[in-house]
Amino acid sequence: MANERVLIVDDEQEIVRLCAVILAGEGYVTEGVSSGWEALLRLEAEAFDLLIVDIKMPEMDGLELLRRARDLEPNLTTIVITGYATMDRAIEALNSGARRFVLKPFGVEELLSAVEDAMAQKRREEEVLRLRAQLPILEIGQMLMREGDVESLSRRLLDVVVRQTEADQAVLMLLDERAGELHVVAVCGLPDGIARQQRVPAAQSMIGELLEAQEPLVREVLADSPLESGVAAMWASTEPGSLVLTPLRTGQKAVGILGLGYRADAYHRGSNRRPPLSPSALNLLSIMAGQIAIALENMRMYELEQQRTEALAHALEQQRELDRLKGEFMRNVSHELRTPLSMILGYSELLTSGVLGEMRAEQIGALEIIVQRAFALRDLVDNITAILENESREPQAEPVPLAEIIEEALADFQVLADQASLTLKGEINVRELSVLGDPSHLRRMVDNLISNALKFTPAGGTVAVCLDSIDGEAVLRVSDTGIGISETHVGRIFERFYQVDGTIRRQFGGSGLGLALVKEIVEGHQGTVQVESRPGEGSTFEVRLPVMD
Ligand code: ADP
Repeated sequence: MANERVLIVDDEQEIVRLCAVILAGEGYVTEGVSSGWEALLRLEAEAFDLLIVDIKMPEMDGLELLRRARDLEPNLTTIVITGYATMDRAIEALNSGARRFVLKPFGVEELLSAVEDAMAQKRREEEVLRLRAQLPILEIGQMLMREGDVESLSRRLLDVVVRQTEADQAVLMLLDERAGELHVVAVCGLPDGIARQQRVPAAQSMIGELLEAQEPLVREVLADSPLESGVAAMWASTEPGSLVLTPLRTGQKAVGILGLGYRADAYHRGSNRRPPLSPSALNLLSIMAGQIAIALENMRMYELEQQRTEALAHALEQQRELDRLKGEFMRNVSHELRTPLSMILGYSELLTSGVLGEMRAEQIGALEIIVQRAFALRDLVDNITAILENESREPQAEPVPLAEIIEEALADFQVLADQASLTLKGEINVRELSVLGDPSHLRRMVDNLISNALKFTPAGGTVAVCLDSIDGEAVLRVSDTGIGISETHVGRIFERFYQVDGTIRRQFGGSGLGLALVKEIVEGHQGTVQVESRPGEGSTFEVRLPVMD
């Protein structure tokens, strides 16, 4: 395959040149060196896809070079070149990992077929490695499906990483952006207590650099060097070795750091030291770090969302409790008001009747004002109670004969109408008509309409209450010849507390709750209410309700 890099090592320049010419013809990029030492320097500096080594070389022979090269990169693909005299060593080389050998003297075809074979085998092995590398990633992916919290997920993720990278120690730290520090969420191979207390300022030079990095950072921890950061400090209690620190990032966002520790004895081999992780293992680590970052960030966001939901649920619960207390309070207040009101009305009636002695004209006038205001107050208390009931209590659903309710109301309001010099008349055109609903609510609705009509009609006027059945609906009309409502206000009179103007309240009393309650009750019975009105001429309120079959 074109552009693959080949390092050729032979003390005989002719062989190096020959190999270079043959391979360059096939598109390989070659480099030649004449000793093992030179080869190691090149391998340390750059990555090669293939190493071709002569077995018999002075100073460091091919076999030694092979061993050291594989210490640098365990998956390095190699071919050995050998004469018959070194056949035993060639076999030894194959046993220690060389893919092919080529016998001297060799022709173009022989070299090419050995190189092609070795490279094909290398590609197959890489594919296997790639597939194997998918396993931990799959495992991490599966962890996302399971329930848990950030800490337990971190611990499980760390286990997977440690298994794959054979680290002696591992730590997973998450970035707390607001506090500007990293805190440990999971450790492996480190004293649990010590490490878990650890918080590391994110601004520290190495940490800051690492959080911004895209690749793992490999650092050596020497026995006598002072440890330079809080991360390294975690290994203070252990022997010198290597740290592999990997940034955990999702796209542009730094999530935390994954730290792996390798004890020195784990990677000192012979005279040569190898880095704790090969380039392919570092690559896998980067991929795993990406997956881990996503997993943890998702879990963190999920936890945050859950906390918010809980806070909302708590607030809702508090709101409900407040509503309940408010309802209870209002009920108590209206009960406490109703009792003295009944007394006021009762005694006023006694006084008016003359049972307690004749009264002078001006006394009767004053008494009338008391009675009027007491009735208005009772009306308000009744409306508040009805609104509260409407909000909190499931309304009753029973057949309600509307005609009866209207007649009762007409009888009750007759006194008030007489006092106000108004004509109150009823026109019940259907008797056998029932609505499925709550009798006390429906009565309240009728009362509010009649009381408004009486309230807003000057003396001498008429209030007419009419019940019909039209298109299968009960139609109740309350008309008056009163002051009427102008177009600007008519759209808003059904809102709670809305009154056409403040002077009306002073003149007629009221709270602005009556029509709002009418609308709520009517709609609660699947009905509609509307008004037609002309200022100075009067108003007609029309309620339509579905009737029972
Ligand atoms: P209130 O307790 O003030 O009567 P309502 O909700 O019953 O409250 O009525 C709201 C407003 O609508 C009243 O203040 C009044 O301005 C107007 N209104 C209601 N009914 C009539 C009516 N029959 N004629 C004229 N205006 C009315």
